[in-house]
Amino acid sequence: MKSDAVAKKLEKLGLRSRFDLVLHLPLRYEDETALTPVHAAPAGKPVSVEAPVLKAQVMYRPKRQLVVHAEGLVLRFFNFYGSQLRQFQRAADEGLRVRAFGEVRPGFFGAEMAHPRYRIVREGEPLPDALTPIYSTTKGLPQSELRALVLQALDAETLDDTLPESLRQRLGLAGFAESVRFLHRPPPAINPEELVDRTHSAWRRVKFDELLAQQISMRLAYRARRARKAPVLKVDGPLLRSFLQKLPFKLTRAQMRALNEVVRDLREPHPMQRLLQGDVGSGKTIVAAIACLAAVDSGLEAAVMAPTEILSEQHLRKFTGWLAPLGVGIGWLHGGTPKKQRAEMLAAPIVIGTHALVQKSAEFARLGLIVVDEQHRFGVEQRLALRKKAQGAVPHQLMMSATPIPRTLEMTYLADLDVSTIDEMPPGRRTVATRRFSDRKRAEVLKRIRQSCADGEQAYWVCPVIEESKEGDLQTALETFEVLKKELSGLRVGLLHGRLAAGEKAEVMESFAKGTTQVLVCTTVIEVGVDVPNASLMVIESAERFGLAQLHQLRGRIGRGARESTCILLFGADLSEAARKRLDIIFEDTDGFRIARKDLELRGPGEVLGQRQSGQPMLRFADLERDQDLVEAAVQAAAELIEHDPQAARAHVARWLGSRRELAHA
Ligand code: ADP
Ligand code: MG
Repeated sequence: MKSDAVAKKLEKLGLRSRFDLVLHLPLRYEDETALTPVHAAPAGKPVSVEAPVLKAQVMYRPKRQLVVHAEGLVLRFFNFYGSQLRQFQRAADEGLRVRAFGEVRPGFFGAEMAHPRYRIVREGEPLPDALTPIYSTTKGLPQSELRALVLQALDAETLDDTLPESLRQRLGLAGFAESVRFLHRPPPAINPEELVDRTHSAWRRVKFDELLAQQISMRLAYRARRARKAPVLKVDGPLLRSFLQKLPFKLTRAQMRALNEVVRDLREPHPMQRLLQGDVGSGKTIVAAIACLAAVDSGLEAAVMAPTEILSEQHLRKFTGWLAPLGVGIGWLHGGTPKKQRAEMLAAPIVIGTHALVQKSAEFARLGLIVVDEQHRFGVEQRLALRKKAQGAVPHQLMMSATPIPRTLEMTYLADLDVSTIDEMPPGRRTVATRRFSDRKRAEVLKRIRQSCADGEQAYWVCPVIEESKEGDLQTALETFEVLKKELSGLRVGLLHGRLAAGEKAEVMESFAKGTTQVLVCTTVIEVGVDVPNASLMVIESAERFGLAQLHQLRGRIGRGARESTCILLFGADLSEAARKRLDIIFEDTDGFRIARKDLELRGPGEVLGQRQSGQPMLRFADLERDQDLVEAAVQAAAELIEHDPQAARAHVARWLGSRRELAHA
């Protein structure tokens, strides 16, 4: 039986059940199935050798160590117990042998091994009949102990196959039991190298099962949510209708299509779970605003959550401009909202805000719709918390993202959401010309800013402040601001960063929006959603320090008005290869989908799409990018199983996800 202490260590590794141990597959293997004569040991490769023990002693030079002389081989241990010294001395007395695994190196006395793994054996003792698995473990849980536990679990567990035989045959997959047994104890004939890249059929079977479990669980979670009750919203009420009549512009066809999809969902007695994706500036906000009116027309509330205060304030401004004329009250809730005002803000039929919306004290009486902008920026917990705000029926959910997911990946990454895509820009949008300048040409850039401002245009100057919580990072922005104020004397220069108080931020934005401020020095706080059409020039300083998606979003802040817009990427002297690639991509491409695709290639889905959205946290073995063929097979098999053999589908998920399942439901 496992002691509590061991159980704790296992818990640390995420191993709770016996089956978790079975699925704790080796990181790599060592081959102790054959002995190599000491003199034939290849350089730099660990091997198993065996020799009679001659003598053992503790030596002090150059430092304290246990030195064991065996025939033709010296073993050295720098950390050792007294009992080891005695063990080797006894072995020498009794004529026993040491079997050691490690790298043989030439030393002062001939061949040597430093702190090898070893065993004392009699001559002729049989060799292991499988490769030695090496598991990832944690401090205080020795490899040998973990190995014993895993192999015990492997023997104890019934490893029945959760895949119907016909499916397994059709996909040409190996059996489950044979695959995991093989991976824990590969036969001696296998070259360990063959298993490292995880393309062996045994690995493929395990990965397929894992992906299948993920797909099934995402789909089941979707169905479960879908089966819950949500208020049926009135989608032809007076507010919505009169707003559609007075729209400030004609919706694009793509917006119409997305809106129709949303409206269709809102009319259902089940919660909408829709992701509205579209490139920066494609016009997602107005679709959300119309959806909010459906809630208000139905006598319910709508909450709009944005990741930053600035963005929430932009939404407030837009919503107010559009909806206040209809007499719809709009509240704004953020970290700095005074206590006294909170209740009043929350009483409005539409409440816009930051994650302050999900705090305990924020209570909604009748939440009908939740809109989450830039949803991948929120943690799973925050989105869950907002959903829980609704008492009784589950609210409809509209998520928005400007990091478009390439269509080919939608199926796999978003198995648990419905997706609407706005793939068309509002008319009159100008493509932004992108130019690259070395730091050394800063003077030219300044001249360009002066010209633009003289023509009545406005400019952003974005500083490479990646983490505003870091003093040093923020300092860059403050210094840049001081320097630019001098360099651009005569122009009205403002400063915006995330650590300004809410009121100050609002003031700075207001002044820039009105055109009072001509040049806005800022951090990436403007990356998301900020909308000032008259700004037609953007300088991004040290552009090489920004990510692709970030650059694309930043650039999306301009090109919104009637003027030609230019984005200038300033870069430092020594560009890394990766940085140069990023700048090339952003220079050559203005299409968000293609940029997202390339970003995916450069960085992998987990980072690009956010952990939860990528589905990667449920995966230990499979890789969504590299195992694309298995992903596709799993997507299809999941649909089939749920349809034709739901019991098998559930059994499969139960086996695989166990305690990890909650991730699928967020
Ligand atoms: P995003 O999808 O990036 O959130 P927004 O919703 O902020 O984009 O829209 C960007 C700008 O385009 C806003 O100023 C918005 O009012 C405007 N806009 C949206 N749709 C249209 C349209 N169909 N025609 C003209 N302008 C539009
Ligand atoms: Mg937006």
